[in-house]
Amino acid sequence: MSATPDAAVTTPPSSLHLDAPPLRGRGSLIIVSSPSGAGKTTLTRRLLAELPTIDFSVSYTTRPRRAGERDGVDYHFVDAAHFERMVAGDELAESFEVHGNRYGTARAPIDAAIARGRDMIFDVDYQGANSLARQWPADSVRIFILPPALVTLEARLRQRATDTAEVIARRLAKAIEELRQFEAYDHLIVNRELEPAYQVLRAIYLTRRYGEVDRPDVPLPLAELAARVAANRASDPAAHARALVS
Ligand code: 5GP
Repeated sequence: MSATPDAAVTTPPSSLHLDAPPLRGRGSLIIVSSPSGAGKTTLTRRLLAELPTIDFSVSYTTRPRRAGERDGVDYHFVDAAHFERMVAGDELAESFEVHGNRYGTARAPIDAAIARGRDMIFDVDYQGANSLARQWPADSVRIFILPPALVTLEARLRQRATDTAEVIARRLAKAIEELRQFEAYDHLIVNRELEPAYQVLRAIYLTRRYGEVDRPDVPLPLAELAARVAANRASDPAAHARALVS
């Protein structure tokens, strides 16, 4: 963890214009998974708020809306019949049952976004991540967010006052199942503290989009961001993941 680039990278200039074309000429699927309670939503929402080149893939779900969630923004909340029609019409690129509810990703917005050079971020479980990466192998990057410890995860799940004890127990069991899938991912980020974890996510994203070499048309220290990604890899987050599930 020695090569930590300085704090100047953390706050982009307010005049940040990211209108340079993506390195690969098309957008990417930025697939982010983690067990519930590892901080994935906070991290991905911040990336979306900061960077104008990404859209959030709003999933369809049959799960009831939680307090504060907005239809069409957090999820498209639909009933089982509606969901079934989408499956029958082959409108979903992937769909799975998670925690007893159905979740799915619409196919059409993905092709449209990446062809236009926009990136899409996906908050899906490991099954969804595998399925999307199989269908868009060259366009996908898979990122897994790890909690610092299982007890932290449990504590974070308990803080969610909206869930009952039974739901929390189910989520914890699912979290461990989810953690066991870490090897399928391109990048692992241990979310010990939000800020450094965010900086790694941001660096992974920006170097994926613009490359690892500084460019005159991109007002970002790409080589420095690439060093941050390399430092994260060198910190051996896989060893942490193995310890969590052992
Ligand atoms: P929550 O109900 O807490 O919002 O999400 C529960 C789980 O479902 C999370 O792991 C989330 O990543 C996953 N999820 C959300 N949308 C989708 C989706 O469209 N497909 C899949 N496979 N999983 C999803």
